[in-house]
Amino acid sequence: MKKFKSLIICIIIIVFSVSKTNAQPKFQLPQLGYAYDALEPFIDTQTMQIHHLKHHQSYVDNLNKALENTATENLSIEDILKNISSYSIAVRNNAGGHYNHSLFWTILTPDKNTKPSERLLQAINQQFGSIDSLKKLLISAAAGHFGSGWAWLSVDNNNKLFVSTTPNQDNPLMDIAEKKGKPILGIDVWEHAYYLKYQNRRMDYLLAIWNVIDWEEVSRRYEMIE
Ligand code: MN
Repeated sequence: MKKFKSLIICIIIIVFSVSKTNAQPKFQLPQLGYAYDALEPFIDTQTMQIHHLKHHQSYVDNLNKALENTATENLSIEDILKNISSYSIAVRNNAGGHYNHSLFWTILTPDKNTKPSERLLQAINQQFGSIDSLKKLLISAAAGHFGSGWAWLSVDNNNKLFVSTTPNQDNPLMDIAEKKGKPILGIDVWEHAYYLKYQNRRMDYLLAIWNVIDWEEVSRRYEMIE
């Protein structure tokens, strides 16, 4: 009987440890919808590779690590972000890093001819005057942001578009954000996003990346909100 008991315990331990090693990490690196060289010459291949495979991967790994043994299994990344003030700084940095980059890859495209939808264009015209004024506002906000961070086009609680910047890997979904809303376009202004090709010339990077914004995806995100 004693032998049988320890056998059962043994099996339980084995099953438990196997299921633990086979468990998928909660968050995973998303695939890009295009090749690493697809955004050339605006964003170079090596920057895309390092940015996606190294930087984004480490946000994912560090987020999974920071959430180990916390009761977050059933929470989405958005759930975590909207209560980010109750998490550790490691969760804040890496949940932000994972969300921001996941959005960033999808709003870029090698297709140079994408256009905002009727509804988004109307909202842009109403809020900023024209798409060109939005470009100026967003790019100057991004250029003027001190240090690492992001520039955003978001939708606030009254369904109004607004431009803002956030430091580090913060974003407008976070409860600690100065201006809260749902981001539909985000531009990474960390040096790792442009340094290999543009070095200190952040403005050149911003003018270049404007050519590869996927306005169809930005419109899709906009229309999902309303
Ligand atoms: Mn980045």
